Amino acid sequence: MNAKRALLYFILFTVFSCSEDSKDLEPDEPADDIFVLPLVVHVLHQGEPIGEGTNLSDERIKRQIEIINEDFKRKTNTPGFNNHPDGGDSKIAFVLAKQDPEGNPTTGIIRVKYGVDEIPDDVPKFEFEQYAYLSYWKSENYINIWVVPYPDNFANVLLGKATGPDSNLPGDDLFQKPLPGGAEGIIINWAHFGESKIEGGHHLGRTLTHELGHYLGLLHTWGNRVCESNDYCEDTPAVDHEVTKEESYLGCNGEEVMIANYMNYTPDYVMNVFTNDQIERIHYVLEKSPRRTSLLTSPGLENSQ
Ligand SMILES: [Zn+2]
Repeated sequence: MNAKRALLYFILFTVFSCSEDSKDLEPDEPADDIFVLPLVVHVLHQGEPIGEGTNLSDERIKRQIEIINEDFKRKTNTPGFNNHPDGGDSKIAFVLAKQDPEGNPTTGIIRVKYGVDEIPDDVPKFEFEQYAYLSYWKSENYINIWVVPYPDNFANVLLGKATGPDSNLPGDDLFQKPLPGGAEGIIINWAHFGESKIEGGHHLGRTLTHELGHYLGLLHTWGNRVCESNDYCEDTPAVDHEVTKEESYLGCNGEEVMIANYMNYTPDYVMNVFTNDQIERIHYVLEKSPRRTSLLTSPGLENSQ
């Protein structure tokens, strides 16, 4: 994929969060009212030793998981906290899988040397399927995250992608869908995974927060770029274009655009809000979408026997 096409995919790629109070529960202290979701991180690297180049260290991966938990739980004393009147706590906790599909203990981190030559021609030329050929755990039980060794010129151009949930939510047609019954998950450019020193503003791990938003049913705040339909969340002010700016300005209805929303393209340090309406969409997906609901009872959440 050349850079121009990558940019097109990035732009076309529109992908994808019910809450009352916000008591602050630690993700490692799951309670009945917390949705706990299992992740598997497939690090597709270029053969470097662990911790060098595209073969990201365990520490960087674990910090990334902390960041998504801070953001989705709106945790106090972290960058994921906000006191926005429409901001909410999604009551979701993400954990690295404890058990692999064969029932063996796992760290939830898989490392595979990436080689496009190793992928047979009969594997569909669909990025999710290509990576899944190299490493994939079934989506009914795990959220697959592929950390991909895109070349340097993809940095700040192609940050991430996600498939959207099977649902009857308004705006469902804007999600990128997997092939029927096929592989799905989230793709993250290695340069934007976790905390890094990369320039351009996307260096604090919010790319995965954004893509998880898509995976769990959220659209960009600008939806299909039409003021009237938009992202189908009334508490995100309507806007008819991509939101990338760091300073507020007026959107469709003369309201200030919510630059802090995770479902924008704003720099990572600006973002800290999922709204209550967005969280309602996420909870709807977790209750109704088959490959999302099944995550809540995944064997991956349990220790291997
Ligand atoms: Zn997006």
